Amino acid sequence: MWSSKIRCSIEYKKILYDYWDTFLNFIYPRNIYCIICNISIDNDEKYSLCSKCRASLQFIEGKICIKCGKPLDEEYLLDKCHQCINSEYFYTNAISCMEYDDISKKIIYDLKYSKKRYISYHMAEIMRDIFAKSDIKDIDLIVPVPLHRQKERERTFNQSYLIGKYLGKMTDIDIDVTSLIRVKNTMTQNRLSREERIENLKDAFKVIRDDNIKDKNILLIDDVFTTGATVNECSRVLVEKGAGEVYVLTFATGRNV
Ligand SMILES: [Zn+2]
Ligand SMILES: [Zn+2]
Repeated sequence: MWSSKIRCSIEYKKILYDYWDTFLNFIYPRNIYCIICNISIDNDEKYSLCSKCRASLQFIEGKICIKCGKPLDEEYLLDKCHQCINSEYFYTNAISCMEYDDISKKIIYDLKYSKKRYISYHMAEIMRDIFAKSDIKDIDLIVPVPLHRQKERERTFNQSYLIGKYLGKMTDIDIDVTSLIRVKNTMTQNRLSREERIENLKDAFKVIRDDNIKDKNILLIDDVFTTGATVNECSRVLVEKGAGEVYVLTFATGRNV
């Protein structure tokens, strides 16, 4: 009862924010300033980036691990990175748009902590283009990695939801934000090792509407793929509750060293 009340209030808030975004887009048309350096740009500049900033993005090109999507050195002989050879994953495969470096870090930071919500639209544009070029087909649902309700209240929004919402509109794929929830308010993972992250995320997510995801092919959305522990734990509960294939699309990914 209480949890359904909270869920209702989160959903209500999301609806309000959607209206607010539409209103802001109306009074502040997109593509006026570069989202990285803030200089004024022509309104046909791709992703609302000036040409210099766009050229500085390290898009993932060349050889990648077929499982986690991280870039591999051209001289590396296998098709999976050493991490993926030795691990068990519940998602089919993951892809990412660009390397997690100072530039992509700034884009994500500006969205999450400077609360520049409009950036999520342009991140979704980039993710749409990378998704369109990928081999991932027949997706039924977009599922953003959920935040714990307490964290969502503190931040006022879930960045993965914002990106997923725009991506859903751009690709005409339904978004599901009610079936997968985060039940454990995990500590920030930045300083944790791979093993600590896995432990930290144990039982952090739960599927509460099995019917919605049953036999559905899911595209899981997140901003950053670091060790993949978060998306793997989400994939585990989704697959255990009967989802079809789970694919992962993130904005940026780190390299395996
Ligand atoms: Zn710029
Ligand atoms: Zn890999």
